[in-house]
Amino acid sequence: ETYHSNENVEYFLDETKALCLTANFEPVVSILYKLKNKDSTFFIGRGKIEEIKKIILENEIEAVVIDDEVDPHFFRFLSEFWNVELIDKSSLIISIFAKRASTKQGKLQVELARLNYLLSQTSGWGKILSRLGGGIGTRGPGETKKEIDKRTLSLKISRLKNEIKLIEKRNKIIKKKRNISNFPNISLVGYTNAGKSTLMNVLTNSTVLVRDQLFSTLDTKTAIIKFNDDTKVFLTDTVGFIRKLPHRLIEAFKATLSQISESNFLLHVVDASKPIEIIKQDIKSVNEVLKEINSNDIPSILVFNKIDKCTNLTNVHELAELYKPYCFISAITGYGIDKLLEKIKYFLYPNRIIIKIFLP
Ligand code: GDP
Repeated sequence: ETYHSNENVEYFLDETKALCLTANFEPVVSILYKLKNKDSTFFIGRGKIEEIKKIILENEIEAVVIDDEVDPHFFRFLSEFWNVELIDKSSLIISIFAKRASTKQGKLQVELARLNYLLSQTSGWGKILSRLGGGIGTRGPGETKKEIDKRTLSLKISRLKNEIKLIEKRNKIIKKKRNISNFPNISLVGYTNAGKSTLMNVLTNSTVLVRDQLFSTLDTKTAIIKFNDDTKVFLTDTVGFIRKLPHRLIEAFKATLSQISESNFLLHVVDASKPIEIIKQDIKSVNEVLKEINSNDIPSILVFNKIDKCTNLTNVHELAELYKPYCFISAITGYGIDKLLEKIKYFLYPNRIIIKIFLP
């Protein structure tokens, strides 16, 4: 269940549903409530809370998802009053991240995010938190009384941070080696599900997991693009961004995101098949995260992907004009890929004449 003040509520509701499905949390019965006053302690009035309780009872609803951050006390009040498993945006995303993490660094970062979340919730109630480790709908490792003890948590957090720092150091050494080889670094950034992994596959013939699910990419993956004159660039696929990515999650994933800040160039991938207002919001969300990690000054191309599915080409063209440089592609059909490669190459090696580019 979600509530929003936004005009594109239906669309966002779909997105939240998609997040729930990604977290193996189904079936989703959706009930929509508009958020009246974001600053008030209670998002919704007493009447609405009681109305929802009735719906919960009538439909035997087991869990309620709130598509936002919730104050711990209000969180506790709601979950007690409704007598359901209550899931907020952070816990939903953490449980998805937990499922997706594949590298050691990714796993440690998820654990850090989870512990930070637990710590922030110690003033509230932690019933749902036990699920975070294993994802919603499955039994997680379980939160013990000991775990919610603040001191134990803080200790664990600082240990984890140290461990992550060590990995970062190691990664820096690896990167230094890369820099010695003098290949430029390009990062793919973009809203989740925009098609970054698909584009990565097309550009590099690698086998990055492509799924029509949110957050299929948690850890960064790097591959090489080779041009016909043997110039090479490193291309890195990064974690998908999402609307209102909770701040503490940005903190926890700084190590992953730092990869972006060290790039020479960004390919900002946009799903052009979405309604124009949503495209604008997606671009904005991504730019906000880029700013958070001091990467908003890195040169970038806005890559409008899924052109094959785009029903609104004139409007998208108009929008694109506001965001030069841009290019239109379809990672699925291959449309525009040559032009994109040309642009990348021109940006990185402006003095070289490009005769022909081939896909590796
Ligand atoms: P990511 O989260 O940004 O890495 O997105 P993915 O690469 O995993 O793609 C998300 C979904 O969009 C997948 O189902 C892809 O098959 C689909 N997709 C990606 N590019 C295109 C495209 O150019 N056209 C169409 N129609 N679908 C695409």
